[in-house]
Amino acid sequence: MSQTTEPRNVIVIGSGPSGYTAAVYAARAALEPLVFEGSVTAGGALMNTTEVENFPGFRDGIMGPALMDEMRAQAERFGAELVSDDIVEVDLTGDIKVVKTATDTYTARSVILATGSGYRKLGLPREEELSGRGVSWCATCDGFFFREQAIAVVGGGDSAIEEATFLTRFGSKVYLIHRRDELRASKIMQERAFADPKLEMVWNSEVAAINGAEKLESITLRDTVTGDERQLDVTGLFIAIGHDPRSELLTGQVDLDDDGYVLVDHPSTATNLPGVFAAGDLVDHHYRQAITAAGTGCAAALDAERFIAALD
Ligand code: FAD
Repeated sequence: MSQTTEPRNVIVIGSGPSGYTAAVYAARAALEPLVFEGSVTAGGALMNTTEVENFPGFRDGIMGPALMDEMRAQAERFGAELVSDDIVEVDLTGDIKVVKTATDTYTARSVILATGSGYRKLGLPREEELSGRGVSWCATCDGFFFREQAIAVVGGGDSAIEEATFLTRFGSKVYLIHRRDELRASKIMQERAFADPKLEMVWNSEVAAINGAEKLESITLRDTVTGDERQLDVTGLFIAIGHDPRSELLTGQVDLDDDGYVLVDHPSTATNLPGVFAAGDLVDHHYRQAITAAGTGCAAALDAERFIAALD
């Protein structure tokens, strides 16, 4: 295991819109940030999607991976040092923060946490391949692509109802697929959903298969009581069964909420530990958009810059 000698000004952990934006700002402030991008998922959640139409500045839209390549190149252009490796351990409690990959140890005066969160998956074959080709986890992002089409939403909580209700603006029909015969969602949201003529509840059902060669064509539903299977023709499938912040590394270090999201001192990005800032979907379980993640990444870099300036 090797050890770097001089502490860096800033280490950024994460390479989605929040991490790369933090890197751009920190690099332009001459802080020479070191960015850990992750080994497999560098570029973050947008690497798994096709067209992004709501990131400002691209009036014709841009493919998710192309957008992330641009952000990465922009960070590099200003001197951010990018490392395609995972951080596996951190000690953020002291004045000098310590972060470790499987082989090396690095130190810094400040750390920006930007590891994002992961949508829960159904774990079915074709789910990954058809992501961005009919299968989605974000109605705000992708609803617009399904105008006048039949859409299914899987889930039973408030967010599933919210997604389904939102999608009725676009779809010709929206099916809400739920394993049981009642929803976990709040009463008021249920009443709103039941009153919507475009929304149809599909009770006691789970998705048994996702079907389609190039694009989603249908899903196979299994009755959770009888075990019977049937096919439902839909071109959109929105999976709304929750998401988990990537905060395993941080347990016992920074304060987390009950669901594991990092708590910050809003409107700043400061965590409970001096010199440790957090941004993006690791903090935000409400908006969960590339532009909001980029916005808080910017704020985290500015917070880190001020923190370091006060030390000098
Ligand atoms: P992420 O993008 O999740 O990036 C975090 C990254 O950090 C990880 O991917 C990984 O590379 C790295 N990382 C994690 N742990 C470690 C570690 N231990 N060490 C090193 N690196 C690590 N939003 C929109 O605004 N418009 C859209 O059209 C849109 N479409 C979407 C489509 C899909 C399929 C998905 C999944 C999301 C979509 N979103 C969209 C939401 C958007 O992608 C997220 O809100 C945004 O990417 C969050 O950015 P982030 O930087 O917080 O985290």
